[in-house]
Amino acid sequence: MSPILESRGEDDHGFATGEPEDEQFPIYSDDAYVAIAPVACRSCFHRFDAICIFCRSGTAFEQELDNFTVANVHGVDESLAQQLALWPTYRWLGCTDGPGDWANHCPSCGAPYDDELLHDEPEDPFFDIPNAESAAIRLVRLKGIIRLSGDEHYTIEE
Ligand SMILES: [Zn+2]
Repeated sequence: MSPILESRGEDDHGFATGEPEDEQFPIYSDDAYVAIAPVACRSCFHRFDAICIFCRSGTAFEQELDNFTVANVHGVDESLAQQLALWPTYRWLGCTDGPGDWANHCPSCGAPYDDELLHDEPEDPFFDIPNAESAAIRLVRLKGIIRLSGDEHYTIEE
């Protein structure tokens, strides 16, 4: 368990709402992007753009990190949710009662495309974005500071 942060508002980048944002959204970045890569649906083979959150720098669970993605996103703040509305195929997996994590969905048949297939293995499109073929992945800068929860993924430089 991470310690409960005492200071709210001092280093909160204007989010002095009294909510314990660092617990709700333990990952944040002011240099974040939507990374976009083409994939083929595993059910109907329709080709579409899958996205993920990529941060050139940021903080995850009180650790400063460079060049990481966030997989299995399960919470986003208001500003990030508004910006992600541009990609309606990236949405909650579940229903209103049990929203689950965010995932990409095939726009043709609606099948979810698991984040594990995008981040986990060296051949996956979002495994190592900084060193990926530049043509394969497009980056769209996200505005302001994004705050979210999920699993951070990054590769260790040799
Ligand atoms: Zn499909």
